[in-house]
Amino acid sequence: MRMQALVRAIYPPQCLCCEALVEQDFALCGACWRDMPFVTGLACDTCGLPLPGVEDDGARIQCDDCLRTPRPWARGRAVAAYGGNARRMVLQLKHADRLDLARPLGDWMARAAAPILTPDMIIAPVPLHWFRLLRRRANQSALLGARIAQVTGLPHIPDLLLRARHTPSQEGRGRDARFRNLSGALRAHPRRIAQAQGRHVLLVDDVMTSGATLAAGAETLKAAGVAEVSVLVVARVSQGGP
Ligand SMILES: [Zn+2]
Ligand SMILES: [Zn+2]
Repeated sequence: MRMQALVRAIYPPQCLCCEALVEQDFALCGACWRDMPFVTGLACDTCGLPLPGVEDDGARIQCDDCLRTPRPWARGRAVAAYGGNARRMVLQLKHADRLDLARPLGDWMARAAAPILTPDMIIAPVPLHWFRLLRRRANQSALLGARIAQVTGLPHIPDLLLRARHTPSQEGRGRDARFRNLSGALRAHPRRIAQAQGRHVLLVDDVMTSGATLAAGAETLKAAGVAEVSVLVVARVSQGGP
């Protein structure tokens, strides 16, 4: 028995979300697949939010959020709507010891981003503040960025953006408070930014809610000489409402 076959006999591949056995590694079982709200149809070209209806003439379409809050970036994609197993996987990657999820999630992100990738793109994650980095040990966005870079062959600069000061958590804040909370919170790495000047940066995060963090990142990068920014997330939270 070859080593790999032996390992597979002892540890047969399990579903990413449950105990069910699956055909191959890094896969979901049928039930968990059905509870994964992948974006498959019409979606906002700016943030990836799934939209009702069908694409007719390939015209650029935007969600109400992006029409109401103009984004300082060009295009955006999401793997899934925030809910079901998308939410579960994002939380496990962020808070639990499931760093292995960065690989399948990164693969799905690379696939979702395919229509908006450009040859000059550089991948950069949204940074964690150092003390949250210490507590949480890993920046989940940098793990995702590394995997996307591996799959796409694009360069990854994990510390292109840095936290300028500690910003209180965004959780539980209203939309305006989220945007206020983040102004001046990020800065470009003084020794890395030259590599990205005049180029297109793909800014990676796990979740987009209001878009305030991604907007702060895009504005910081463009002010530092980056030509254009697009965004890519695992899950897009639909905010709805007025
Ligand atoms: Zn499952
Ligand atoms: Zn949108």
